[in-house]
Amino acid sequence: MLIQAAGGNTSIKDGEVMWIKASGTQLAEANDKDIFVSVDLPEIRASVQASEARADRPAEFLLTKGGLRPSIETSLHAVFSQRVVMHAHCVHTLAYAVQKDCEQLLEGPLTGLNWALVPYVKPGANLANLVAEVVKDAVNVVVLQNHGIIVAGDTVEETHALLIDVHQRLRIDPATSQNADLAALNTLAENSEYTLPDYTLLHQLALSAARVTQATTGSLYPDHVLFCGIGATALKAGETPAEAVKRVMSAGAPAPVFLIAPGVGVLVRKDASATNRALTRCLIDVLIRVPDEASLSYLTPEQNFELLDWDAEKYRAALNAD
Ligand SMILES: [Zn+2]
Repeated sequence: MLIQAAGGNTSIKDGEVMWIKASGTQLAEANDKDIFVSVDLPEIRASVQASEARADRPAEFLLTKGGLRPSIETSLHAVFSQRVVMHAHCVHTLAYAVQKDCEQLLEGPLTGLNWALVPYVKPGANLANLVAEVVKDAVNVVVLQNHGIIVAGDTVEETHALLIDVHQRLRIDPATSQNADLAALNTLAENSEYTLPDYTLLHQLALSAARVTQATTGSLYPDHVLFCGIGATALKAGETPAEAVKRVMSAGAPAPVFLIAPGVGVLVRKDASATNRALTRCLIDVLIRVPDEASLSYLTPEQNFELLDWDAEKYRAALNAD
């Protein structure tokens, strides 16, 4: 509920050196593998402050060799004066952070903490600069809209306790589950590239009309876009998975990682990676904690394209070519 696949990152500063989890590695492996890399802290801080383009190329500040690269979010950690920084794409936080009025919603549960909310911008140095503005006032809890949570402290124990405290304060009980139509799903999956998910809660994406709308209207946070694509695809009435894939691909997007069959359940691509699956799971873990009537804040088309490094104009041209 705190970490999905390689998402989020943890860092510790030692004088002028900052150690941070390497991009694409899993925190769960930290005890068994060398997954932390070190960067030059004063250099990266100066670069972020000067808004240099290289602030978004954290590998240029590497002190360690060995092929692992620091996270694109390294700059986010550098702007904190505290020694330990933990950043997570916490499901409980996301259930608030994807709602338009999250600032008011967070006020009650976070009362007494020194927290701030930072609006969505693409993860990287621009976001680090926005975070730098709010942490000037000894803020040690930063909620990133449509993204996640950052907590900071001077020891690992204190920082971890703060992360868990925030996670518990923002805890929301999941909505009641409905039964998927497994027979109908099996029929849909026959002779297709899709199969029934191991994570059965996933079906809840399909079993309330409000949730189908929430999931398919757009993308709610960056890792969803990176690992599941833009928004989500629901089968139209009478459509087969193959027909839905053809429809999506003809608009220039890759085949969907998962398909929502409204009122029936969810199918996942047979070749979906562990990361694809983790981020698919994340979507229902978040949405089952969001009220049906909530007003959600979606990434704009441009925000989706910049995450995927797609040329927005080219994509528009492809869409209009239909
Ligand atoms: Zn992040």
